[in-house]
Amino acid sequence: MNNTDPREAFVAGVAHVRKQYGDATNPVTALDNVSIGIRRREFTAIMGPSGSGKSTLMHVMAGLDSVTSGRVWLGDVDITALGDDALTQLRRRHVGFVFQSFNLVPTLDVRGNIMLPFELEGRSPSGDERRWVDHLISSLGLAGRVDHRPHQLSGGQQQRVAVARALGSRPQLIFADEPTGNLDSRSGREVLSLLAAATREYGQSIAMVTHDPVAASYADRILFLADGRLVNEMHRATPEQIASYMLGMEQVA
Ligand code: ADP
Ligand code: MG
Repeated sequence: MNNTDPREAFVAGVAHVRKQYGDATNPVTALDNVSIGIRRREFTAIMGPSGSGKSTLMHVMAGLDSVTSGRVWLGDVDITALGDDALTQLRRRHVGFVFQSFNLVPTLDVRGNIMLPFELEGRSPSGDERRWVDHLISSLGLAGRVDHRPHQLSGGQQQRVAVARALGSRPQLIFADEPTGNLDSRSGREVLSLLAAATREYGQSIAMVTHDPVAASYADRILFLADGRLVNEMHRATPEQIASYMLGMEQVA
């Protein structure tokens, strides 16, 4: 991170991070000397070909996976060597997730899943937060589904529940891995508008992994990974500009 005061400018970041999977005879380098920061109150998209290290970067920044070397910050806390309990506390208070696999609780209905972050934090939502959750439920088209359980929902509906859950308690930082991957274009636009609004209206920070140039065009800043390395950065690009850069990347590879 090349800012003079990284803790002020960045809500999460990695410095000179390497992440290696496998063993000495068969190593897979998922991240190769990556240094980036997710800026506060910005919507950052992370792009790159399949296998370029996007999900690994997200997991490492969230402290869900350890690094082989380098350092990781969440807020102003160096989490590189933080214990599991402290990490869990930190995540519950400050971080929301939309995973590729949704990770909904099968025994809870839609509202129960969306309210789970409040439960885990051990607090009740304020009146304002309840209204916000109801707004999310209706704008994500889930109003008729609040007492359904995940197995009664389509993949797209489950993804929208995961988005509502991540946004509901207005965490400082939201990590979203392909949050529009299973959605039709109208639901996808709704999710992207909500994420963009979270940064503009509520000062949250978003790090979104995507391979969709239209989704990335909602972001303030776009980071490109290839073979575990940061290879480019763009600011507010159109879908056409992003698509044309990605096409170039694939031709080089
Ligand atoms: P992306 O999200 O960009 O598709 P990933 O971060 O999932 O990429 O993976 C980056 C590289 O690390 C790939 O080569 C992948 O096969 C490898 N990898 C990811 N997770 C594991 C794991 N748990 N064990 C071994 N290799 C892994
Ligand atoms: Mg991935």
